[in-house]
Amino acid sequence: MSDPVLVLDGIAKTYNPGAVNEVKVLDDVSLSVDRGEVVAVIAPSGAGKSTLLHIAGLLDTADAGRVILGGEDMTGLSDRRRTGARRADIGFVYQFHHLLPEFSALENIVLPQLAAGVSDSAARAHARDLLDRVGVGHRADHRPGALSGGEQQRVAVCRALANQPKVLLADEPTGNLDPGTSDAVFAALMELVRTTGLSAVIATHNLELAARMDRTLRLKDGALV
Ligand code: ADP
Repeated sequence: MSDPVLVLDGIAKTYNPGAVNEVKVLDDVSLSVDRGEVVAVIAPSGAGKSTLLHIAGLLDTADAGRVILGGEDMTGLSDRRRTGARRADIGFVYQFHHLLPEFSALENIVLPQLAAGVSDSAARAHARDLLDRVGVGHRADHRPGALSGGEQQRVAVCRALANQPKVLLADEPTGNLDPGTSDAVFAALMELVRTTGLSAVIATHNLELAARMDRTLRLKDGALV
C-alpha cells in the first residue's frame, strides 16, 4: 500500500512573469514519494532541479500546484508555519557542505538539535552516533576546514538528518567529489537513509548513482517523466 510522505501536485513556477526576462521553469511537476523510498531526479543544468527542490523543501513557493508533506497540504500556510514544517520535516544536503566553519563537526550536528529543543547531552550523543554511522566519528572534534571534501559531505548528511526529518532533499550531494569519494559518500548516505527508513529525493548527474536508488525521474521541459 502506498504511503506517500511527500506529494507534489501540478507544481508550476515562472520567474519574472510577464517581463522580458521571464523564465518558465516548472510547468506541471507531479511526484509522490513513499515512506522509505529514494527517488533520483536527473536534470541537465538549468532544467530547474534546484527550483524544484526548493519548492519541495518549502524554501520557495510555487505559482500553482500543491506540496503535501506528511499528509498535510502546505499550500497557503503562513511563512512562520512553513518555516516550522521545514525545520521539523525536511533535511537538505547541497553540493557544497555549508557547514559552519567556526564550529566542530560534532557541534554542526548538535546546533540544529538544540534549536529544536533537544538537551545538550542528548544532542551530543545523537551527533556522535550519526558521525560513527557514516564513518567519521574520529573526526568529531575537527572543524570543517580540517576535513576532506568527502568527510565534509558526510558531516553535512549527518546535520541534515539531525532532527529526524521525514524527507531528505539532496542537490548533487556528491557533485564536488572525485568518483571514488563520491561513491563512498553516496554509499554512506544511502546506508543512513535505509536504516532510518527516511524518504529522499536526490538530484544527480550521475547515472550510476541514480541506478542505486528506487526510481529515476527526469526533469524535462518543466515536467518530471
Ligand atoms: P538547475 O538547478 O536545474 O540548474 P535552477 O532551478 O537553478 O536549475 O534554474 C532553472 C532556470 O531558472 C535557469 O534558467 C535559471 O537561470 C532560472 N532561475 C533560477 N532562479 C531564478 C531567479 N531567482 N530569478 C530568475 N531566474 C531564475
